[in-house]
Amino acid sequence: MEAQEIMRPEEVMRSGHSACPGCGVAMGMRMVLRALGRPAVVVVVPSCSAVISGPFPYATLDVPMFHSAFEIAAPTAAGISRALEIQGRGDIPVLAFAGDGGTFDIGLQSLSGAADRNENFIYVCLDNEAYMNTGIQVSSATPRFAWTGTSPRGNTRRKKQIMEIMAAHRIPYAATASIGFPEDLAAKVQKAREIRGTRFIHLLSPCPTGWKTAEHLSPRVARAAVETNVFPLYEILDGIHYTLNYQSRGLPVETYLGLQGRFKHLGAEELRAIQHETDRAWEELRRRSEKQTC
Ligand code: SF4
Repeated sequence: MEAQEIMRPEEVMRSGHSACPGCGVAMGMRMVLRALGRPAVVVVVPSCSAVISGPFPYATLDVPMFHSAFEIAAPTAAGISRALEIQGRGDIPVLAFAGDGGTFDIGLQSLSGAADRNENFIYVCLDNEAYMNTGIQVSSATPRFAWTGTSPRGNTRRKKQIMEIMAAHRIPYAATASIGFPEDLAAKVQKAREIRGTRFIHLLSPCPTGWKTAEHLSPRVARAAVETNVFPLYEILDGIHYTLNYQSRGLPVETYLGLQGRFKHLGAEELRAIQHETDRAWEELRRRSEKQTC
């Protein structure tokens, strides 16, 4: 399906936001909101997304928006959703934006509680793989070997597997998405809109500032993550049914890593380790998705 068929015509985000040039988070928010359409209620927590969406009267989102605390994007969305239900307006979708810090780390406990209760909201994790708006500190979403301000020689830990954690809650819908694949992202937002319960979208959102990439490269970097299988596009229904949404070109991981300054220090051994881990994870994902068709 073409982008113009799946994207609603109207913009939900005004111009004039304060993101850095080429920000993948701003692009992701715009694509998500445009696919979701109106009416909708949006929750943001302290992060680049809160800076981008802005305070009243300078708000860039053209839907009702609630600024919540860092660790409670999910229960805030759940509370708003319940209130709308009581008012007889339960058909209005509530969507929470949180970064990887507010999802993988600080918000994980409250997200888990809300997912356990299968609260009715869409949660979009804008994953830029570090605490960017406080100065590029490592998070548990930061990939192994990546430079950050607090991992100057490269992160020593592996990226936390947030999709597996969410799947373990048996929520009705979880999906990965990329700003490099807008049609796929829009289709997933619209699919999530039609489902009740906790829906989770893990959206890779390149950050030119923290990833040390050129401003115009964010969509290309995001595509390269998918084409190298570093960030595959897939869905999980009810925590068990896996579907691969895109057959990648299987390019070497250097195609993705080489676009970014945060991996410039890597040697052959580290690159081999990343390739090995990427291949292993891709095979596991393929095996799980193939099992569904048997
Ligand atoms: S620091 Fe990164 S994520 Fe934050 S506004 Fe700038 S480019 Fe976007």
